[in-house]
Amino acid sequence: MENNVKGAVAQGPIETDAIIIGAGPVGLFQVFELGLLEIKAHVIDSLPVVGGQCVELYPDKPIYDIPAVPVCTGQELTDNLLKQIEPFEPTFHLGQEVTVVQKREDGRFDVETSTGTRFITKTIFIAAGVGSFQPRTLKVEGIEQFEGSQVFYRVKDPAKFEGKNIVICGGGDSALDWALNFVGKAESVILLHRREEFRAAPASVAKMKELCEQYEMQFLVGQVTGTEIKDGKLAEVKVTGADGVTRRLPLDMLLVFFGLSPKLGPIAEWGLDIERKQLKVVDTEKFETNVPGIFAVGDINTYPGKKKLILSGFHEAALAAFGAAPYIFPEKKIHMQYTTTSPKLHKILGVETPVFD
Ligand SMILES: Cc1cc2nc3c(=O)[nH]c(=O)nc-3n(C[C@H](O)[C@H](O)[C@H](O)COP(=O)(O)OP(=O)(O)OC[C@H]3O[C@@H](n4cnc5c(N)ncnc54)[C@H](O)[C@@H]3O)c2cc1C
Repeated sequence: MENNVKGAVAQGPIETDAIIIGAGPVGLFQVFELGLLEIKAHVIDSLPVVGGQCVELYPDKPIYDIPAVPVCTGQELTDNLLKQIEPFEPTFHLGQEVTVVQKREDGRFDVETSTGTRFITKTIFIAAGVGSFQPRTLKVEGIEQFEGSQVFYRVKDPAKFEGKNIVICGGGDSALDWALNFVGKAESVILLHRREEFRAAPASVAKMKELCEQYEMQFLVGQVTGTEIKDGKLAEVKVTGADGVTRRLPLDMLLVFFGLSPKLGPIAEWGLDIERKQLKVVDTEKFETNVPGIFAVGDINTYPGKKKLILSGFHEAALAAFGAAPYIFPEKKIHMQYTTTSPKLHKILGVETPVFD
């Protein structure tokens, strides 16, 4: 699986039969349903990990309504889906948002991501859930101009922060993990959180407090309410504490981890029928959108009676795969077969055909 994860910019456009936008549970199962019909897929997600809401919002929480799985966590469901799709060797392009989808004259689509990866594809499956998860930003006037130079919402290159005076905002796992990580590597680390209680793992909080007692780092209760700019650089942030007093914190780098919020984003610009931030499907036979060749499955779609459940998305993925097959194999008649008894499907799945008495 690791070999198939791509983050780098590809040279020319990648030509493919199917693109899946979104690696949540439904996008992952779409790989399986396409795979059974011998259609290989590229899967793109804006997050650096697969699993969508299940991994981003509730990795350790139990799910009880997956058929034949009495209970599993969000992470376990994702791990099992990854295992199930292994025979189909999907190619993952993670940490990149699909920004462009355009119909070509030859009937296929040009697709482009935020990191410049380009594709030409015959079909598209939008499994984008509630939209792509984007970091919640710090709402302080003038801070945007330092994004990418001194203000960061994710750490891409940890070496950039070594030897620097860092202020880290947030009380979740990302804030605590990075604060602990940079102690000893950065010149100084200050963790800033609006209250004494943390969402992060208790062990990380205990470690942070221990490091504070050893004067290895500092923890302050407060919020960034202003900036001080000197020679075009962010020299200080103004921090208002619980006592209402505003203090100045000199810094080189500001890291902000306020969690992620989903945004429909570029999907709204692709000429698709949208109703209350969801994609309308033309019918519930194929789950195709108003643009032939583009299908919408999972939480992103809407139709009469829609229920935003994982099992509904799985069903939609099966029918969308059959709906898409004629675009990829116009000459071929597609028959539904059972995975239990079909030698053809056994070959595709790389398993032995069982002998029935
Ligand atoms: C707390 C909680 C508990 C839940 N419990 C249950 C339960 O018990 N049972 C149940 O059936 N359902 C449950 N759900 C709902 C379930 O998680 C969703 O129905 C399911 O995740 C939908 O899957 P999906 O693949 O359609 O979308 P998502 O899981 O939302 O995944 C969509 C993915 O698409 C990516 N994406 C979006 N736009 C782009 C873009 N332009 N470019 C690249 N990537 C993009 C996103 O980053 C995301 O990773 C729960 C939800 C929550 C929040």
